[in-house]
Amino acid sequence: MKKYILSIDQGTTSSRAILFDRKGSLVASASKEVNLVYQKEGYVEADATEIWSSVVDVINNVLIKANVKWEEIDSFGITNQRETTVIWEKKTEKPVYNAIIWQSRQSQYICEKLAKKETIIHNKTGLIINPYFSASKIRFILDKVDGAQKRAEKGELLFGTIDTWLIWKLTNGKVHATDTTNASRTLLFNINTLKWDKDLLEIFNIPEKMLPEVYSSKHDYGKIEYFNRDIHILGVAGDQQASLFGHTCFKEGDCKNTYGTGCFMLMNTGSKPILSKKGLLTTIAWTIDGKTTYALEGSVFIGGAAIQWLRDGLKVIKEAPEADESALKVKDNGGVYFVPAFVGLGTPYWDDDVRGTIFGMTRATNRHHIVRATLEAIAFQSKDVFDIMSEESQIVIKSLKVDGGATNSNVLMQFQSDILQIDIQKPCCLESTALGVCYLAGLQSGFFKSLKHVKDCHDVKAEFSPKMPANLAQNYTKSWTNAVKAARLFKA
Ligand code: ADP
Repeated sequence: MKKYILSIDQGTTSSRAILFDRKGSLVASASKEVNLVYQKEGYVEADATEIWSSVVDVINNVLIKANVKWEEIDSFGITNQRETTVIWEKKTEKPVYNAIIWQSRQSQYICEKLAKKETIIHNKTGLIINPYFSASKIRFILDKVDGAQKRAEKGELLFGTIDTWLIWKLTNGKVHATDTTNASRTLLFNINTLKWDKDLLEIFNIPEKMLPEVYSSKHDYGKIEYFNRDIHILGVAGDQQASLFGHTCFKEGDCKNTYGTGCFMLMNTGSKPILSKKGLLTTIAWTIDGKTTYALEGSVFIGGAAIQWLRDGLKVIKEAPEADESALKVKDNGGVYFVPAFVGLGTPYWDDDVRGTIFGMTRATNRHHIVRATLEAIAFQSKDVFDIMSEESQIVIKSLKVDGGATNSNVLMQFQSDILQIDIQKPCCLESTALGVCYLAGLQSGFFKSLKHVKDCHDVKAEFSPKMPANLAQNYTKSWTNAVKAARLFKA
């Protein structure tokens, strides 16, 4: 009997391979760093060939580490950094340019020229015109590389997000495909018709011939010919959607927040896309058995990064785990509020000009208050996204599932539960992203029989319930809102 599913989690700075058993428990993992290339101010790129070889390495390494044989592997799942764009020659498999990473702003000028198309693009894709998404990155490469546009029109060049690139390499160039979640981040995919959209392709002047086939997130993407094994890739999803699935957020209103460097909140909104007027993105959560589920998505730019700043910038802690120790040395924030808008504010403010500001200090303020206010700021920013989500969807969110490095802070988790006045659930396996595609692949192979079976396998490790009275939570929130307002008024 096959014992394991192997999930590949290809992220911005590292590639990982993770083995899960039949219960969805993590058995072993291997990781390898990927170098980023910064050619110019605002450019973030990586060598797509290095990304691929790092994936080969971690696959081999995890099998060796866990002493698992190929014969014991049921199937593969792939989850990936989204939007990152690779274009390669069909014949030689050689990328024609570096992979342009999602963070990169190098195609900003292309987006600026298309400002008039904002409404049509928003209605079709649920996104906004922004260099973050793939379309302008493709345009950038087709403009930059000699003859690329013509070659793409002839079908000699192929485009893919990282999932597509890895599927292509793993199947030895037999399959050029992506799933709906990744397609929905390109700015070229119509989330209503579930097809590449002719109008959008025209707006960006991108030849359809270079685009991959789009399939369900749970689908047989083909055999891993590269390793010469009869093992198939059966689950594919972009990282944030995979995480939503990995948290078993299967029902409308189910919501997760990832507390990494930044924070990513996604809520399952059911079978219809909800278009936001307040800066949330609408995205495909997954497509399973012909049924597409949608999600709303919001992000906080500075989440755990604020803790890094306490460590590296302010130097008031030596390591991230000291944040809790320090915060607990004071009974509350002492009236101190910190808006960590180091790079502006994301959802729902979308204010690029605001900068980090600390309010409410007195002679009695000490570093522990600042640390506490920093942890609280991560929770307040997440609450801002959360409130907009429930307002725009008109869905009452009953609990929040969490993952990411900063969930190690119990002070943060408790405060988040307090100000949201809902329960917070932290799963046993914090690798929700990899687990999400393990579940998708396992549902396709029969490893998992049903969504209910998946839910039964899923364990919660820690639960935080509100301890703060509701009126106190409201007062805190009011002060935070005032702090954000004041921070936004300041101009240097
Ligand atoms: P990413 O995937 O964005 O690299 P991770 O999920 O690995 O992020 O989380 C890293 C972040 O978590 C860092 O910004 C770090 O400051 C924060 N972090 C890690 N441990 C703690 C802790 N005990 N308390 C608070 N923040 C923490």
